[in-house]
Amino acid sequence: MESFQSYINLNRERFIAELQDFCRQPSIAAQNVGMREMAKKVMERLERLGASARLIEVQNGAPVVYGEIGSGARTLMIYNHYDVQPPEPLDEWTSPPWDAAIRGGKLFARGVADNKANLLCRIQAMEAYRVAIGELPVKIKFVLEGEEEIGSIHLPQFVAENRALLADADGCLWEAGYKDINDRPVLACGLKGIVYVELHARGAQRDLHSSQAAIVENPAWRLTWALATLKNADDHITIDDYQLHVRAPTQAEMDALKTIPYDEAKIKQNLGIKSFIGKRNGIDLLKKFLYEPTCTICGLYSGYIGEGSKTVMPNHAFAKIDFRLVPNLAPDLVLDLLKKHLARRGFDDIEVVLTETGEETARSPLDSAIVRAAIDAARAVYRKEPVVYPTMAGSGPMYPLCQALGIPAVSAGVGWHDSRAHAPDESVRIADYFEGMEFVKELMERFAKN
Ligand SMILES: [Zn+2]
Repeated sequence: MESFQSYINLNRERFIAELQDFCRQPSIAAQNVGMREMAKKVMERLERLGASARLIEVQNGAPVVYGEIGSGARTLMIYNHYDVQPPEPLDEWTSPPWDAAIRGGKLFARGVADNKANLLCRIQAMEAYRVAIGELPVKIKFVLEGEEEIGSIHLPQFVAENRALLADADGCLWEAGYKDINDRPVLACGLKGIVYVELHARGAQRDLHSSQAAIVENPAWRLTWALATLKNADDHITIDDYQLHVRAPTQAEMDALKTIPYDEAKIKQNLGIKSFIGKRNGIDLLKKFLYEPTCTICGLYSGYIGEGSKTVMPNHAFAKIDFRLVPNLAPDLVLDLLKKHLARRGFDDIEVVLTETGEETARSPLDSAIVRAAIDAARAVYRKEPVVYPTMAGSGPMYPLCQALGIPAVSAGVGWHDSRAHAPDESVRIADYFEGMEFVKELMERFAKN
């Protein structure tokens, strides 16, 4: 019987060509470009694997590509997404974002790291397994959505409509994952929640000559006064009652931080910053990074920002704000606390607009079977101790798809520390891509047994 590794070596060129083909199909959820084409491509690839695959429609949303293959006592859900971020700014790419060019052992394309390489690597690993070894040792359920980059807005609806299909999974291999700045594989067992709002302050019915500022209120000032009540200069969120809902990390969660090597010097250099907020370091820094919520002004706009001076008083000012959330701080609760907080201070004229459905926080038990299998598989394949994050600092739809159904999840993937997801020159290293196939094999075998 052909060995797993030699089958991969024999098919190396085709596997890379397939990845390039995936990356050359734009699938930009935010602009609704190429979504159907990409969904069909993914479904057909699952069929070529031998899976029973279909598109599951969700009203007004991009279809979910669903597939099943394999057998065994355990069921492993595979979650990925086939949509990508917009490619702009185009002139900052070394090669065009849809060329999928290969340079210096890396493949450069929009969406390759986030998330097409992870998606296809898993399918190709299963192909190699079936030819070289035999039937997959676990039952696989693929859930490949097309709206992750726009907040998975229809995924809760998909889960509600297809609960019976999903609920018997024993664990989930989540979409992302990478090697850190010291090339250690990173596994993550949870995500922060998120809620994203716009605050709009409005003044006169049109922009005014700025001499009117003596007697007419300026919405740009009102907005900044309101914003200044949300967080203080110590980076402490000061929304009324907000901190009451931030639960302290458990002892196990704190202990987990001790095993995370966070190379502060290298990371500061990479980011071009002198220090982290409040000069934090060590466990204190990681605790804030992973276990505390954020309130971030993502954008701030008002008035004239062109060249030279224009003595104008704007009639509109707005800010875009995201909140990354931790357990017990649900998106609805945060929205409610924010509105009440502003109203209590006389800012009830400032309109709070929810721009996306929020996502809840998710955390999987560190001793669950899927997490243990992933740790063992990573040790075996990468020959380095994996770094296990109890949660990522980012967000995703792990709560509705996994935690709400009682399915523990772990993320592992083929990115590297400079993959530049969402940014120009996004890439994966080809060697990591093929190593990732071995990880998938080892994970399935270990998850089947433990
Ligand atoms: Zn992304």
